[in-house]
Amino acid sequence: MASRIGINPATGEKISEYNRITSREALDKIAASKKEYHHWKQKTFEERATLMYALADVFDKNKEEYAQLATREMGKVIGQSRKEIEKCALVCRYYAEHASTLLADETVKTEATKSYVTFQPVGVILAVMPWNFPFYQVIRFAIPALMGGNTGVLKHASNVQGCAFAIEDAFLKAGFPKGVFMNLNVEAKDVKILIENKNIVAITLTGSDATGRSVASIAGQNLKKTVMELGGSDAYIILDDVDLEEATDLATFGRLQNNGQTCIAAKRFIVHDAIYDAFLALFTKKMKAAKMGDPTNEDVYYGPMARHDLRDELHGQVLKTIEQGGRLVLGGVIPEGKGAYYPATILVDLEPGMEAFDNELFGPAASVMRAKDDVHAVELANNSQFGLGSGVFTGNRERGEKLALQLEAGSSFVNKLVVSDPRLPFGGIKNSGYGRELAAYGIREFVNTKTIWIA
Ligand code: NAP
Repeated sequence: MASRIGINPATGEKISEYNRITSREALDKIAASKKEYHHWKQKTFEERATLMYALADVFDKNKEEYAQLATREMGKVIGQSRKEIEKCALVCRYYAEHASTLLADETVKTEATKSYVTFQPVGVILAVMPWNFPFYQVIRFAIPALMGGNTGVLKHASNVQGCAFAIEDAFLKAGFPKGVFMNLNVEAKDVKILIENKNIVAITLTGSDATGRSVASIAGQNLKKTVMELGGSDAYIILDDVDLEEATDLATFGRLQNNGQTCIAAKRFIVHDAIYDAFLALFTKKMKAAKMGDPTNEDVYYGPMARHDLRDELHGQVLKTIEQGGRLVLGGVIPEGKGAYYPATILVDLEPGMEAFDNELFGPAASVMRAKDDVHAVELANNSQFGLGSGVFTGNRERGEKLALQLEAGSSFVNKLVVSDPRLPFGGIKNSGYGRELAAYGIREFVNTKTIWIA
């Protein structure tokens, strides 16, 4: 049987070894999930909510253990891992409280005696998830899907299998019936067989656009619904009326949080000509001063990347950009040592056609560009294959809102870094995917929106 060895990206040491299950075994688990679905869908919102509150308590109670596990497996700075677990509890409580309202029947006045829309569960949802928020990404799909009466099975990223099993265990600890949520420790190549299986009704994927294309095309062949949460290259426009200290603090954190590996991280900074030089100088100073190191140390600003191959891939993109005429202002050199570390890096003088302009840099490397004016800034921001998040930093909220409305993205924030919040929908356009998670929009993705007409 194939196994997967877990490596601590901070040290390069082996930390775990998990046996893979075969696709046959995974299909048996999916069949068990389908069987459980027939019971689970009969539960009331109140019954499901009781379990969700219990799950939130499990996250609270085991926060330190789960946070340490995430940090060990993918290198997130420990304080940010703790926040991630807190957010999981928040999502559980949000949907426990609101799911019945979000999925309440909607009466529609027609010539019928009675006509309304009702939202019914659809079955077993397959989730293919990434490692960068190893607890939260899973919870973000699972909680609304389960509150809607579906069951869920997870194919998690190979390097965070400890987290995948911990999440499965958390559901059991909270008292969920076995089968409502299950981890399938299969290889990526087996996902096709799972999608094709009759017991899987829909697929949600969070990952790269390349994986998205593959999974969506298989699902399409099988006429199964998908939600795609893919990559991003979020643009932040920095206008000439900003407080530069504040803007550069946000920019530094936005680029380095989660060791630079957040889909909605600030990746491209589009800076108004009048303040470009001052912004770049201060941003460079702060990026340089940010402390890189062991992610279990409380005082570290950012840690290693999640895997050595991902670090090498990012370095390749930086080198390619320089070859293409981009200019390196900071970083760009792999440090000595065993961990998958990559230093805070800044690239400038970028043009369309260059790697850093066209593609996502999924690590601590920032692109900084100069904009002539507001119109040019929006043009540069929208000149991207992606459309996940985006932002505007300005001293004038109205000016910021005007630009935010013109940005081609699923979210545009003014004077704040984009975050995912259970009260608001989250997702992208263009190659960042389609469909939405969270809020009412997320819980309505995996339900049968059904019309009832009583003549
Ligand atoms: P990835 O390589 O696409 O992997 C994501 C998941 O897909 C993993 O479980 C992976 O399994 C699996 N997978 C890989 N190739 C597959 C295939 N051909 N068929 C089926 N499954 C496959 O992405 P990643 O490197 O883990 O994550 C980084 C990307 O995710 C970035 O682009 C980031 O922007 C994006 N992301 C988007 C969001 C969002 O909400 N929009 C959130 C977080 C991350 P293995 O680990 O076994 O390969």
